[in-house]
Amino acid sequence: MFGKRRSFIIMYFLAAAVLLLTLTGDGPDALRRFSGVHSERVTVSEPEITITRSEIALMEGSSWETILYKISSPVEGPTVMVIGGIHGDEPAGYMAADEIASWVVDRGTLLVLPRANVPAIEKRTRNAPGEPDLNRVFPGDSNGGPAEEMGAVIMELIIEYEPTWVIDLHEAEYCERLIPGALGQTFLYPRKADSLDIVEELLTAVNRSIYNEKKHFLLLRGVARGSAAKGALMAGAEGIIIETCEQMQIEERIQYHCQVVSAMLYTLGITVY
Ligand SMILES: [Zn+2]
Repeated sequence: MFGKRRSFIIMYFLAAAVLLLTLTGDGPDALRRFSGVHSERVTVSEPEITITRSEIALMEGSSWETILYKISSPVEGPTVMVIGGIHGDEPAGYMAADEIASWVVDRGTLLVLPRANVPAIEKRTRNAPGEPDLNRVFPGDSNGGPAEEMGAVIMELIIEYEPTWVIDLHEAEYCERLIPGALGQTFLYPRKADSLDIVEELLTAVNRSIYNEKKHFLLLRGVARGSAAKGALMAGAEGIIIETCEQMQIEERIQYHCQVVSAMLYTLGITVY
């Protein structure tokens, strides 16, 4: 009798455990979905360090005036530049970059230009009124119109600060997985670039943190002539374009951009905290 009862209790707990596993069936994957790569953040236990934050105005006094944020750690490390808002109708890119501009890094330097094309962002259009596509003017022209001048300013920043990577945040209307050529949810990495190993490591890390496989990023090779990523290459940096898919909610797209940048910094040995 007692044996039967004990068996029943064991069976009961087993059933409860199975039910619990079913309810939280996604297990660690579900956790990763919400915590993303940020779960890799660690508390810095080394001696206190003072992080320097600077705000640098670009094209001051013009309708294109915008701020470059420079976040520097005294601990030696790579410099990484993040650009958002090259296209004014791709909000997740510049909204994520706004958030990234508030990050603190444990080593190296993080340069963030959240809103590269202010007049286009204000109009919510791809290009500024009457101006060419900012992502086709690189290396820019300091004697040209405002878009070409901004291209030249960004080139000067890349040459001056020598980032190892320039990460340019964009959006596409549809997802590449559903409509080939649509470019949503992809990394675009130039064909003639040398750090494919880092990009593949990044892709693996980011996709591991995304529960739904349909939302995994794809890696495509090649970027448009005149793009900021191409400009980065011309200036001796690595360039990559991150494209989210506008069929998803804006909060999710912003999170993906932040996740990718955080994972890239982590891959390069920089911890965000
Ligand atoms: Zn774009």
